[in-house]
Amino acid sequence: MPEHYIESAASDPVTAERLERVDSVRKKLEKNGRTGENAPKYFIQTFGCQQNEADSERLAGLCAAMGYVRTDRPDEAQLILVNTCAVREHAEKKALSIIGGYKHIKDKNPDVVIGVGGCMVTQKARADKLRNSYPYVSFTFDTGAVDRVPELVLGALDGGKRAFVLSEEFKIAEGIPIRRESKHMAWLSIMYGCNNFCSYCIVPYVRGRERSRSAGAILEEAKALIADGARDITLLGQNVNSYDGGTVGGTRIDIAELMHRICALDGDFRLRFMTSHPKDASDRLIEAMASEDKVAKHFHLPVQSGSDRILAAMNRRYTADAYYEKIEKIRAAVPDVSLTSDIIVGFPGETEEDFEDTLAMMEKARYDMVFSFIYSPRAGTPAASMPDQIPREISSERMERLLALGAKIADERNERFVGRELRVLAEGVSKNDPAMLTGRGDPVRPIHFAADRSRIGQFVNVTITGAKTYCLEGEPAPRQD
Ligand code: SAM
Ligand code: SF4
Repeated sequence: MPEHYIESAASDPVTAERLERVDSVRKKLEKNGRTGENAPKYFIQTFGCQQNEADSERLAGLCAAMGYVRTDRPDEAQLILVNTCAVREHAEKKALSIIGGYKHIKDKNPDVVIGVGGCMVTQKARADKLRNSYPYVSFTFDTGAVDRVPELVLGALDGGKRAFVLSEEFKIAEGIPIRRESKHMAWLSIMYGCNNFCSYCIVPYVRGRERSRSAGAILEEAKALIADGARDITLLGQNVNSYDGGTVGGTRIDIAELMHRICALDGDFRLRFMTSHPKDASDRLIEAMASEDKVAKHFHLPVQSGSDRILAAMNRRYTADAYYEKIEKIRAAVPDVSLTSDIIVGFPGETEEDFEDTLAMMEKARYDMVFSFIYSPRAGTPAASMPDQIPREISSERMERLLALGAKIADERNERFVGRELRVLAEGVSKNDPAMLTGRGDPVRPIHFAADRSRIGQFVNVTITGAKTYCLEGEPAPRQD
């Protein structure tokens, strides 16, 4: 994994004060001779969405700034951080099982510091579970307390009490160092939290209300990223369409204007955004995608269900027809757009007829890819206590049908690229064939092509020669620009 390290924009005073603990930890490690060859190692385990991946890059930035060196092996780490997800029960169970496995590491080396953060431990019941049943966990920190990690590490190194931070301070912490996973592809968080309260979703409870970073801070970060070699930048937010640019005192601008301003920056790069809520996907956003060459022609617009009855029960605040009208608008403005969606199967009360409405929407919308999930009850959300929870066998059977239809449509959609020339960012060596590179273009699927490793991090014109369900294959086009 490439080592890459960049500071985000200037910090607020509270965060700045907390980040002073970074130096305290570093000094402590230096005093104990834990530098250079002897530097202690950190390991981060991440679950969940892109926002969590972005948060883990901040955790990695903090670890590096404190003087730790990255390892991919938890058993050789002196600091283990687990960044958890709470969107589905499966993610929580998996995290708890992995944390359970760290007990033997702590048994072997009692000095190891283990911290758990993220959405799971932003719920009190889960933080309590870790406090009571996982005594080797040194600390937990909620999603609003990433900037408190240095203080928590310092406390653990000093042999202080175990700490369980549930501050629910859902603010914007600027100035946390970031150590990015990739030099060429970057997450750029533009806002945090969600106000939508879809009835099945835990996110608003564990990430707080919507708050936008200032346009100035985002533009500074985008400039630094581009100067540093980023060629594919994804603007991140739970509902990026609600971006208002102003919570921290900046000028109030919407996401379309923000995208125009980023596209006006010098440099050859591609801009993406996710996720859009259909009710807020504005004409201005669609126009920005259509008019800006730098914006990838990919729209992720989660429908969740094709049944009006279920959409109402989900509190999605659009009907299937209104959703489809949005798609028609997008396709009218960007005819070749790659369209993707999230769908939940087995929401409480979903009848066979409701499910067939969802399949009908898939047939109509012709998604390039669908991310589908079996409904998972989340304690504290309205849907968890709704009647008519759907038995697992029915949800699983529906899921199989949905997956089969999704794959069939995706296959048909992928075919349209065969014979065409696409501009692809070479991301790295293909996992399956070291002679091939893999990269991304406008289609959602990865694109594999034979090219020299020196092209990694560059755009390559690729002629597509074949389409499979999960990837496209091609070769460098004769003409490169
Ligand atoms: N903000 C985004 C949106 O509105 O589409 C996505 C956030 S959520 C982390 C990603 C996806 O997880 C959702 O689109 C939904 O399909 C799925 N999801 C959320 N809660 C779920 C639940 N309780 N059970 C199953 N899937 C769920
Ligand atoms: Fe969850 Fe709905 Fe917010 Fe997406 S828009 S994060 S699904 S509450």
